[in-house]
Amino acid sequence: MKRVVVVGAGFGGLEAVTHLDRLFGRDRDVEILLLSDQNYLLFTPLLPRIASSYTDPRHIAQAVREIRGRKKFRFRREAVRAVDAPNHRVVVESAAIDYDALILALGSRTEFFNTPGARENCWDYKSLQHAVELRERIIDLCEHADHTADAAARQSMLTFVVVGGGYTGIELVTEMRDFLFGYAARKYRGINASEIRLIVLEAAPDVLGGIGPKLAAHARKRLHVSGIEVRTSTRVTRVLEGFVEINGKETLAADTIIWTAGVRASELIESLPGPHDRIGRAVVSAHLQLEGHPEIFIIGDSAAAINAQQAPRVAPVAIEQGRVAARNIGHLWRGEPLETYEYASKGMLVSLGMNYAVVKIAGIEVSGYFAWLFWNAVHLYKLVGLKKQVQVAGDWMLGLIFPRDAAIVRQPRRCKLCEDVGQASSLSPLHRN
Ligand SMILES: Cc1cc2nc3c(=O)[nH]c(=O)nc-3n(C[C@H](O)[C@H](O)[C@H](O)COP(=O)(O)OP(=O)(O)OC[C@H]3O[C@@H](n4cnc5c(N)ncnc54)[C@H](O)[C@@H]3O)c2cc1C
Repeated sequence: MKRVVVVGAGFGGLEAVTHLDRLFGRDRDVEILLLSDQNYLLFTPLLPRIASSYTDPRHIAQAVREIRGRKKFRFRREAVRAVDAPNHRVVVESAAIDYDALILALGSRTEFFNTPGARENCWDYKSLQHAVELRERIIDLCEHADHTADAAARQSMLTFVVVGGGYTGIELVTEMRDFLFGYAARKYRGINASEIRLIVLEAAPDVLGGIGPKLAAHARKRLHVSGIEVRTSTRVTRVLEGFVEINGKETLAADTIIWTAGVRASELIESLPGPHDRIGRAVVSAHLQLEGHPEIFIIGDSAAAINAQQAPRVAPVAIEQGRVAARNIGHLWRGEPLETYEYASKGMLVSLGMNYAVVKIAGIEVSGYFAWLFWNAVHLYKLVGLKKQVQVAGDWMLGLIFPRDAAIVRQPRRCKLCEDVGQASSLSPLHRN
């Protein structure tokens, strides 16, 4: 009996395991095991729409057991703590699991570039939990600003800084704009639209690196018209609670600073033997194998294939690498030559909030309303499973007819005002005097 272990139920890992199932599904001598610390596939391209209450968080998470259906592979929700490469084992909480071949698809984590105070004081935006927390943060601050008399405090509550002008930062800020100007400024009587500030800080000379100068210019113009301030060639040098320092000299007061500026490979990937690139990804062969360990394949955001180091960290790359790694395990075991991963750009689609997107596909560049419709159609199509497609399409249609949902359903995180109220109300009446 041979065992293939795939770690990570993201885009790359799930594609790999599905492909392995096709290759070895009928082979009784091959066991396929998927390990992941989350029991769902997160459709990250729609994460920005959680912050603006345009899409329900549960609708962009598809349970692994539903995706599996009748497929043979086994799934265990486990965090892998270490890879014991010499002994062909992965270490989980309470056991070590042997493998004959291993695919690592662990995604990435946020990189703060050692910017003082950034990790402690910024809001991260990589997971479903981050998205849900940020959504509640925005609504929570609107609730406070609605009745805060101090103008400076209100201004700080209604200033939102997004660090990073890549596609995540830009999609997020435009979604936040839709919520704040389209909903909050109308429904909260104490908030005036002129008090809301949305600022993007980007260290590079332009936003949306990789999309090309024409579409970047369209995007900049759209952001400007929407009232979003974009400051390029601007480096964040320090983050304090309620303040961000820019280029070492200027400070901006903002209660919410969101960091989307960089990513780094997971610690587990960084701990592996062999070469790594400057953001910690394992530099793997063109067949996606780890140096010195032909039985270990690394894919997606965790890998820098030697012949495709310029490939962006996006879902189509992870998916394609998942297929190649799965097929290469078959080739390896049958003693056949291995396939090479070749990067081919599938284009770039960036939504700029309601009714506007910029799209670059097969050399064709489009911007505006039809590009936005195309963005929506592509992302609906790419969602895994009819149920999720119907749920998300439903959210979007309802969002066109009804106002956004602004209920805070959990205790907001990191809110001093709420904590003070919570502490006061937990004291006995005697203590409160
Ligand atoms: C906000 C946001 C928006 C994005 N928008 C787009 C977009 O519009 N288009 C696009 O193409 N890409 C987008 N991306 C990038 C895309 O999500 C990634 O490139 C893609 O998910 C990488 O796939 P992966 O399989 O390498 O990792 P992931 O999909 O991140 O999956 C990694 C999996 O590994 C699991 N894991 C991690 N560590 C462990 C461990 N130690 N043990 C067990 N399991 C572990 C994680 O829980 C996760 O399930 C976006 C990303 C973000 C954060």
